[in-house]
Amino acid sequence: MPISRPLGSSPTLRRFGPSASIVALTLVVGLPRACAQMTVEEYTPRSTLKVPTHEISRARYPFIDVHNHQRLNLDSQAVAQLVSDMDALNMGLMVNLSGRSGADLRQGIASLRDRYPTRFLLFANVDFSKIDEPDFGTRAAIQLEADVRAGAQGLKIFKNLGLTLRDKSGTRVPTDDPRLDPIWDKAGALGIPVLIHTGEPASFFEPHDKFNERWLELKQIPSRARPPNRYPSWEQIMGEQHHVFEKHPETNFIAAHLDWMGGDLDRLGQLLDRLPNVYTEIGAVLAELGRQPRHARAWFIRHQDRVLFGKDSWAPEEYPVYFRVLETEDEYFDYYRKRHAFWKMYGLGLPDTVLRKLYYENAMRIIPGIDPTPFPQ
Ligand SMILES: [Zn+2]
Repeated sequence: MPISRPLGSSPTLRRFGPSASIVALTLVVGLPRACAQMTVEEYTPRSTLKVPTHEISRARYPFIDVHNHQRLNLDSQAVAQLVSDMDALNMGLMVNLSGRSGADLRQGIASLRDRYPTRFLLFANVDFSKIDEPDFGTRAAIQLEADVRAGAQGLKIFKNLGLTLRDKSGTRVPTDDPRLDPIWDKAGALGIPVLIHTGEPASFFEPHDKFNERWLELKQIPSRARPPNRYPSWEQIMGEQHHVFEKHPETNFIAAHLDWMGGDLDRLGQLLDRLPNVYTEIGAVLAELGRQPRHARAWFIRHQDRVLFGKDSWAPEEYPVYFRVLETEDEYFDYYRKRHAFWKMYGLGLPDTVLRKLYYENAMRIIPGIDPTPFPQ
């Protein structure tokens, strides 16, 4: 094609002679050279595609965000602002997963839930820095019971467990460490769910090369790389988590971030089919769903009782992309974070009954003590 054709063979150059060929060379060679110097981070093509669009600023139904993080010492003005931002999105209830424990938790309950009892609830956390103390698991379970009595309505486990947490012998503490069994059993006995974030995107564990789908993220934030000489494999870490789910069938678990299987929904579906005590949520993995609208829609319909709405980072302006992917059938629109996805989004157009389960019904079923009043029956 023209690209490989020698310049001298151009009909224009032959007709106008050597001086024209210098101008032409500048035009032909100069422009591609500037483009060649552009980085993938700079490249931001604007779509020229004209298709029907349905921008959505508010969710169709009041929804429960089961994966949010807020400080525990917000003053009344900050909390009022938060509620007003939630109202604009139609967020009925926010779950603050960073509830900590003891006095910190009580402060968070006073700051958030006591001020707006129907708008906030808190999950407690376990202090794993005490892992080397004798009877750690039993003591942590006793603390969890006290925290639930103080108002916590779930337990959140952060990703340091199983990935970076080490005991004093220097050994990594796997998620299925038997020392932790009393905690999982206690959550089941108390009737509260455990929202557990284990591991990270599988791409972080893969070579940082031109084939890696998170190449850009690993370039921008190199500390996210999990090379095999320093970390166990993704399969190992996730397998330990699944072992906990199997060992504690009386405890409900919410595997955060689609359990990092948003790109392999059939495998996630098999886990849900095998283990009825496991649920999941969609925080920070929307881009995986938005690139497979037909497959993801069928998957949501099949597993409609097991998926909850979550977002993770609190950025009100990013929620409308969630609504648009879940509610519309729009095509080829922008996601909000380039390092997660260099591709475009497509709407799933979820059926109303499925949307209501995702937005609030499933959360109401497994998180105790939610006031149903704001949510349509
Ligand atoms: Zn989170």
